Amino acid sequence: MAALMMRVGPGSFASARVYRPALCSAAAAILRSSSSLPERVKIVEVGPRDGLQNEKTVVPTEVKIRLIDMLSEAGLPVIEATSFVSPKWVPQMSDQEEVMRGLHKKAGVNYPVLTPNLKGFQAAMKAGAKEVAIFGAASELFSKKNINCSVDESLLRFEEVMRAANQEGVPVRGYVSCVLGCPYEGKVSPNKVAEVAKRLYSMGCYEISLGDTIGVGTPGGMTEMLNAVKKEVPVEALAVHCHDTYGQALANILVALQNGVSVVDSSVAGLGGCPYAQGASGNVATEDVVYMLHGLGIHTGVDLPKLLDAGSYICHSLNRRTNSKVAQASCKL
Ligand SMILES: [Zn+2]
Repeated sequence: MAALMMRVGPGSFASARVYRPALCSAAAAILRSSSSLPERVKIVEVGPRDGLQNEKTVVPTEVKIRLIDMLSEAGLPVIEATSFVSPKWVPQMSDQEEVMRGLHKKAGVNYPVLTPNLKGFQAAMKAGAKEVAIFGAASELFSKKNINCSVDESLLRFEEVMRAANQEGVPVRGYVSCVLGCPYEGKVSPNKVAEVAKRLYSMGCYEISLGDTIGVGTPGGMTEMLNAVKKEVPVEALAVHCHDTYGQALANILVALQNGVSVVDSSVAGLGGCPYAQGASGNVATEDVVYMLHGLGIHTGVDLPKLLDAGSYICHSLNRRTNSKVAQASCKL
């Protein structure tokens, strides 16, 4: 493995050797219409925040900035750049201001940041953020252990962030975590997920990302949960955020697309995990999502070889193996 990793340096070989999924456009159109898949999917890249925040190694600021720039060059339309949390809680994100100031903002690309409270929101504004994200859990126990308050209390805390964001005209994205299972509660009721999603949507979040934070969901659970949530929030405002702990992420995403969802969160090289859920692996790898979507004839605007280079770059910096199957396959060619 180490030998393999050593070859994966910045600006490496990946571009030349990626296999392109073959699908003629007529076949793609038939496939899309027969299974009501979207024509275009927006990928929200969460690697620099959700991914790196959960890696053991603290990444130097200049590496984060380079990673974000490589991701925007690869055509990702949304890149969650960092989190304005207290460095006491998340030391990996303590350079949030430098990251925001250092990245080369590309026209047409959004760089949302996580803001857990008003103080974080104000700091994010000062650092030039144009979009923020807030989060609530669908599980009471997870909320208690993760942010030390009930789901209700956590949503109340976000109301002041919401008010401030409205005043500034800043769009807010909402996350719901543990939508398909919780490390403490086990099964999570789809109705509870729908209730929390509805609260965030009514508060003014323009998009609700439904997170399988510990990656335990299956396509069956995803269908059941989406059916409940779609009754409360328009499907156009929904995104899915799948972790791949049990190897179900791509299947879960495909089912979500068939249910009308057209926004997918993913993390380059499958970076990340969940500190509160032992053994939870990272977000689904962006490379693998893009490969699947392009194979389905779905437009993403992402250049897969460039994305693979970004994945190689960050894995090299972290001295860890990629979690992307597509990247692993490309390495061996
Ligand atoms: Zn995640």
